[in-house]
Order: sequence, then structure tokens, then C-alpha cells
Amino acid sequence: MPSAQPLPPTRPRLLRADRIQNFRPSVFTETRELAERYGAIDLGQGAPGLSAPRVLLDDAMAAIAEGHNQYPPAAGLAELRRAIANSRLRRFGIHYDADREVVVTAGATEAVTAALLALCNPGDEVLTLDPCYDAYEAAASLAGARLVAVPLATEGDRFCLDEAALRAAVTPRTRLLLLNSPHNPTGKVFTAAELAAMARVCLDHELTAVTDEVYEHLVYDGAGHHSLASVPGMRERTLVVSSAGKTFNVTGWKVGWACGPGRLVEAVLSVKQFLTFASGTPFQLAVARMLGDEEAWTAALRGTLQRHRDLLRTGLEQAGLRTYRGEGGYFLQADVRGAGYLDGTRFCRDLPARAGVTAIPCSAFRHNPQNPHTDHLVRFSFCKPADVVREATSRLTGKWQA
Ligand SMILES: *Cc1c(COP(=O)(O)O)cnc(C)c1O
Repeated sequence: MPSAQPLPPTRPRLLRADRIQNFRPSVFTETRELAERYGAIDLGQGAPGLSAPRVLLDDAMAAIAEGHNQYPPAAGLAELRRAIANSRLRRFGIHYDADREVVVTAGATEAVTAALLALCNPGDEVLTLDPCYDAYEAAASLAGARLVAVPLATEGDRFCLDEAALRAAVTPRTRLLLLNSPHNPTGKVFTAAELAAMARVCLDHELTAVTDEVYEHLVYDGAGHHSLASVPGMRERTLVVSSAGKTFNVTGWKVGWACGPGRLVEAVLSVKQFLTFASGTPFQLAVARMLGDEEAWTAALRGTLQRHRDLLRTGLEQAGLRTYRGEGGYFLQADVRGAGYLDGTRFCRDLPARAGVTAIPCSAFRHNPQNPHTDHLVRFSFCKPADVVREATSRLTGKWQA
């Protein structure tokens, strides 16, 4: 038999599309496995270990029992869209038309992904700050766009915006600015001056802004939340993304939403209808009822998490790790050089066996290889019960001092 031509080596792109070449099981999966293997306290994961409002849970169960179990409209239940618009008006004085300017999504993740798919052409650039939430690169990649992540600067124990660097990163291909404040993974909350600087960049270069505000209720030390949409000139070009998961400790419900000018919301909706179409009818109803009167709950949650942040920060410092301020959200960054490590990834690999705790290396959120501020940092979450945070910090204490 004539020898057949050997098959050309299988090229990876025959198996996986180019746009998902960089998609790998995330560091979170690995960390969860380490946590299980060593019976470690998991301060890597950002899933809240705190309970949800009782009334919210009861409302969801009642909604299921009452038969609200079929598809909601693609844009979300009208009750929820009205409650969202009312809440934005009450809290920020910004009016959104519940019928045209609000869309309910399967979590904030779907809102961000649908926005990038809806607004970016292949080859476009999406500007964000580095390090950043890992779903952003994936969303840009699905859209054929390129994520351009400008390193956050540091100053003492805080992260800050480098406006000149942000401005310098804008090119003719830049399509939008994707901002997350309060910020995951750094705990940074952007100041009014920093938001004004970002607004100038957007206005000067005709950029659309997508702002991921899933931690909008979790800004500590009495500093209120500011939305980029509130900066003059920005409401008409900003899509604001929120999540009931982070606001009410129900991350498994995946109820999120986006508010913005009709043309942006309509674009998101046109993609979203072909991703999930719609989801979570009884959860949407329960969240709608809760949103009428959420401020007492969110104030209490903010107080609790601020105390947990303080516990964790004090504990990490006592254990010899210098920390950055956690101004908002669920996370603190700690510098592992105090434990004799240069590399946060190695520290996080050793930590479960050494101390019975897990954390996530900041480099897992790094997109820009030029970013000098991530290698020696690791992310700890404090969205856990106080005794869990206390136990974790006591496990860390005395583990690496001479
Ligand atoms: C948790 C998180 C999300 C995901 O929100 P869902 O509503 O669960 O999709 C999005 N962005 C950031 C920054 C987050 O931390």
C-alpha cells in the first residue's frame, strides 16, 4: 500500500477557535482544589459567606410557589426595571426610562459581555485598568477586540489612576473604556477627581464607557459611591452595570442589569436576546420588591464588611504582610515580600499547606505584562463571617517571622 501522506500535525486551531485560545480553567478552580485538599479557609474565592436578606429569600420562594416560572421579557420584568430606575433616581438623581434605558441580564457578567459584543468590531480596542476582573479579557476576545490594560499606579498604601498613561493608551482603534469601581481585585475606589479625568479622556476621544459597579453599595469609611455616569457629559455615553448578587449576597441567582442611554441599552438587548434571552423570573420579582427599600440592608452589609475588612487588614499586618487599603468591595491586596516571597503565585501555592488558608495571586488578574505592581501582591477576600476571617488571620500569624 502506498504510504499515505502523514497527516499534518493537528493544529490547535482545528480544535478550538482562535478567539478562545487563551481561555483556561481559572486560578479559582485550582485554588478551590487546594482549599479542599488542605482543609484550608478559602479567602481566595469572592463568593460571599454571608447570608441574604430573609425577606428576599421568602419573596423568591413565594414567587415560585405562585407560579412565576416562565420566561420573563428579554429586557427583564417591568416591575424590576421600574425598581432599578427608581433606585438610580433616588440614590444618584439620574433618571433612566424603565422601558428604554434599563435591561436586566444574567448577572453583571452577561451585561459586560453583551456590551462588548454589541459595541466592538473585530480589531477594536477596549481600554481598562490593570489588574482587572478576568472576565473582561474573555469578553473582549469573544468580540474579536483587544483589551488594553493600563497599569494602576501605587502611592503609599493606595492604588491610583495614571491619567497620562490612560490618555497615552488611546489609539484610533479605541472603542470604549471599561471601568470597574469599586475595583476587583485591588479594593480601589476611584475618586471624583479620577472619574473626572477618565471622563475627559472619554469625551476628548469620543469613547463609550461601560462601568462595572457591582460593588456600588460597598464603599467604606463614609465615602459614597460615585458613578462615572454622574460626571457632566457622561450619562449619554455610559452604560452602568450592577448586580443583585453582590448587593444582596445571592451570587447564585445571577440577576444583574445595565442602565444607560437607549441606544446602548438597545444594543445590549439585541445581543443578550441571543445569549440567554432571559432568565430567573422568580428571582427578578424578589429583587424588584427588595429594591424598593434596599438602603437599610445595604448600609448594614457595608458596616459588617467594613469591620471584616478591618479585622483582615489588622490580622495581615500583624502577620507581617503590608496591605493596601481596601476602600470598597470584597478584597484586600497584601505584599508577600514581608513573608520572604518575591512571587505571589508561589506564596499562594504554599499557603494552604503552610497556614491552612488560600488567597489568589494578583498576577492572575494581570493582563499587562508590563505592570510592575502585581507580582508580589496577593488578593484576600473578607466577604466571609467574622469568625472565619479571625480564624484565617490567626492561622497566618507567626507563620514566617524569624
Ligand atoms: C463578581 C463580579 C462580577 C460578576 O457579577 P455577576 O452578577 O455574578 O455576573 C462582575 N464584575 C466584578 C468586578 C465582580 O467582582
